[in-house]
Amino acid sequence: MSPSGETVVVIGGGIIGTMCGWYLQQAGQSVTLVDSGAFGAGCSHGNCGYVSPSHVLPLTRPGAVSTTFKAMMGRNSPLSIKPRLSPSLWKWLWNFSRHCNQADMLEAANGRHLLLQSSKQLYQQLITEQEIDCEWEERGILFVFDSAEEFEEYSHTHDLLKETFGVTATPYTGQSLLELEPALKEGLGGAWHYECDCHLRPDKLLSEMRKRLEANGVEIIEHFPVTDFRTENGGARAVSDGKRWLEADRFVVATGSMTPFLNTHLGCKIPIQPGKGYSLTMPQPTHGPSYPMIFEEHRVAITPMQSKYRIGSTMEFAGYDTSINRKRLQLLRTSAAHYLHDPDCEPIEEEWFGWRPMTWDGKPIIDRSPAMNNVWVAAGHNMLGLSMATGTGKLVREMMLGEPTHVDPGHYSISRLQSK
Ligand SMILES: Cc1cc2nc3c(=O)[nH]c(=O)nc-3n(C[C@H](O)[C@H](O)[C@H](O)COP(=O)(O)OP(=O)(O)OC[C@H]3O[C@@H](n4cnc5c(N)ncnc54)[C@H](O)[C@@H]3O)c2cc1C
Repeated sequence: MSPSGETVVVIGGGIIGTMCGWYLQQAGQSVTLVDSGAFGAGCSHGNCGYVSPSHVLPLTRPGAVSTTFKAMMGRNSPLSIKPRLSPSLWKWLWNFSRHCNQADMLEAANGRHLLLQSSKQLYQQLITEQEIDCEWEERGILFVFDSAEEFEEYSHTHDLLKETFGVTATPYTGQSLLELEPALKEGLGGAWHYECDCHLRPDKLLSEMRKRLEANGVEIIEHFPVTDFRTENGGARAVSDGKRWLEADRFVVATGSMTPFLNTHLGCKIPIQPGKGYSLTMPQPTHGPSYPMIFEEHRVAITPMQSKYRIGSTMEFAGYDTSINRKRLQLLRTSAAHYLHDPDCEPIEEEWFGWRPMTWDGKPIIDRSPAMNNVWVAAGHNMLGLSMATGTGKLVREMMLGEPTHVDPGHYSISRLQSK
């Protein structure tokens, strides 16, 4: 029992639940964290490891619908939507398309920017103070362009990010790019170096955080899929996995892409679609890169971690489909080979997929449930859950304990996504 006598159950042992649990425990709450499977085995496990304040802009940009459609027409497109009769998917796509304009893009970008900035600072603090060995590096990320035209065109986005959000990058072309990153092939269009970005090894961060949580008295219960809430006087009193009840004073729902399955209990429609992405993990190639890079036209990312090397990406809207599409895995390797002399390495140690929790406006949901006054939702972090996790955990603690919030929580309200 914490000094204040408050108990909290965090539902979901991904990076979001982990950071909510951490900041709540540090504020003196007595925390239990439950997961339907193994701790840290969801989308937070095999992602690309970027903590990237540069990723301010959402996917909903002017012209995104036609660009996405065109991209999907290509045989080897990294984007795909599996045609199926899913009213929630079609509604999601409709809302997504309605937000592809300058005003909505900037509105979403404001909310993303706040959490991205605060999260980076909080990571730096947490990793230093707790001496967390998660292969954290601050060398930035290269946005690499195949064509010179696309590289030049990106200068408009760069200027927007610089002028509106103070996020800047350094452009490199020709010989200067090869001197910066000799692993790249000759003849590419150019690259923008976002020095503000960082990277780490996500599975190591999670296992290190698990140790810190448990050392501070947090109980972690695996294989506890929450299926029910017991309520009383407008609040939740306990959650159940169908076999036993777990009581607490407060609850956090950090169930990532699975959150819509709790809609009935939460008293609202959480419009999250699973956006499936893949990664391949292997040893560092002999002449591998030293910078993390996003190959912009191919939408593939590579991360040279200290102990591993990862190629990741692709986005499939195929529902909760658990199959591994081998063509998608191959696409990661061929895309990397387009840009790098030594693009991959045997043996492949892990073939992985994860469901990104995608909201149609590109912002997460961090808010109190409309149906239960002591339940908070922290989900829908899209392609940036790792990058926004520390800020989210801190904000949940502030909202729950009635502290002044370090960012405006209005950006992440549930109500913005209802009845649309
Ligand atoms: C290929 C790929 C690359 C990516 N790269 C990056 C990157 O470089 N940087 C970045 O910031 N983001 C990246 N992302 C996105 C990031 O991985 C996600 O946004 C993030 O992991 C979401 O975290 P989460 O904790 O919300 O979800 P999860 O990690 O999925 O955790 C949710 C947990 O809740 C549990 N759960 C669900 N339902 C229940 C229930 N009813 N009861 C109990 N437990 C439940 C699940 O088992 C799961 O463990 C990438 C994603 C992919 C797919």
